Amino acid sequence: MSYQTTNPYSEQIEQTFTPHSDAQMETILAQAATTFESDWRLRSFAERKAVVKQAAMLLKEQRDDFAKLITLEMGKLFQEAQQEVSLCVKILDYYADHAEQFLAPKKLDVKRGEASVEIAPLGVIFCVEPWNFPYYQLARVAGPNLMAGNTLVVKHASNVPQCALAFEKLFTDAGAPAGAYTNAFFSSEQVATAIADVRVQGVALTGSERAGASVAATAGKALKKTTMELGGSDAFIVLDDADMDLAVKLAVIGRMQNSGQVCDGSKRFILVDSIADTFVERFQAELAKLQAGDPMDAATTLAPLSSKSALDLAVKQVGEAVEGGAKVLLGGKRIERTGYFMEPTILTDVKPDNPVYYQEFFAPVAMIFRVKDENEAITLANDSPFGLGGTIITADIARGKKLASQIDTGMVFINSPAVTAPDLPFGGVKHSGYGRELSDLGIMEFVNRKLVLVG
Ligand code: NDP
Repeated sequence: MSYQTTNPYSEQIEQTFTPHSDAQMETILAQAATTFESDWRLRSFAERKAVVKQAAMLLKEQRDDFAKLITLEMGKLFQEAQQEVSLCVKILDYYADHAEQFLAPKKLDVKRGEASVEIAPLGVIFCVEPWNFPYYQLARVAGPNLMAGNTLVVKHASNVPQCALAFEKLFTDAGAPAGAYTNAFFSSEQVATAIADVRVQGVALTGSERAGASVAATAGKALKKTTMELGGSDAFIVLDDADMDLAVKLAVIGRMQNSGQVCDGSKRFILVDSIADTFVERFQAELAKLQAGDPMDAATTLAPLSSKSALDLAVKQVGEAVEGGAKVLLGGKRIERTGYFMEPTILTDVKPDNPVYYQEFFAPVAMIFRVKDENEAITLANDSPFGLGGTIITADIARGKKLASQIDTGMVFINSPAVTAPDLPFGGVKHSGYGRELSDLGIMEFVNRKLVLVG
């Protein structure tokens, strides 16, 4: 496994990094464990807050420098990269401001004695993170865990090493002690060794089902708690009473943000028959307008995919879909130019026996389904191995809420594409994983909720 920056727009290899040796891995784990025991866990909330707040401030000040690295390494539109950095500032600030309140001891109402639940950190948490939001994914684990008193060792995706190093430096610059947050250029074998190491107390992963199953199995064998934030194939349901302007606008955002590389992006468009033709015609027209180009250029509206392998996989999936009986209404191919660009694509007639029916498209590929009514829409939405998010567009909020309660996912959005914010819990069910990140729920994943009873 090589840690390397390849610019997805120019296809040029920019920089290669030497992976950590086994001896370096030992030093990293030892430092994280020592810092936890003899320093970080002993600090007050105010002391930890000072460091995390400083990190948020530096990130805010240096927003464009951080954002440029995202665009360089995984091709995101620069404006979206700036938004991502700003979101990270909010996440760090949120946990710095609220952790003490979230983790305050709770007195229990018991029949005898005096009982309370105290909340203590667990120790070193090992994180495996993906490239699609190179800082947001890190902020989601760093903010809550550093404020809870845990220390972190983070293995980032091998195609975003400069982002990985920039985030590590952020905490060093903010005054965190060595070992509080450490970047790990580890191989998969080293990840397995690190997870099994007694000094590691928990494992958080965001990524594919394949990586999740492998890491969760290793952690399970070593009896380590895990959280898994995996893929999704979210439904975007448009009901007969929907405001069509809103539906089309949100569908484009839901499918095309980050060039379609969003775990809770809208991927399956489930349309009630009466509005289906209008929606498809307008959605297709909007996707056809997108302009591929330099992701640093504000005029560009279609960014490249993150890597050649991501592009190849998406084109292969479209080929399999067509072989399985699907029709291509728009796009379907690589754009013939330098850069890993994929045409915005719409597939119709994807039936349950099509191999892609149950697959996730991590690319700008929308699957269109038509249904008779809302009951059929819910059945189809739930006919997926995934259970991350989903969207319902309707003019009747009560109707939307009723349907939301029937959707088997961790998040449902009414008249909104998937959104993320520090105070909104994020996570899924089924093959989309388990556990929650963000909000007060996210900070409770890797802590010891300790009963103290006075008899
Ligand atoms: P991966 O799951 O392969 O990568 C995510 C992280 O896991 C990376 O840091 C990767 O490291 C690491 N990893 C992969 N396999 C192992 C392993 N066996 N042991 C330890 N670490 C491992 O995602 P891809 O980049 O391949 O993307 C493929 C699919 O993953 C997408 O199509 C999408 O479905 C899903 N995905 C979901 C995301 C989400 O936000 N939920 C984000 C990204 C991907 P390395 O880069 O070194 O291989």
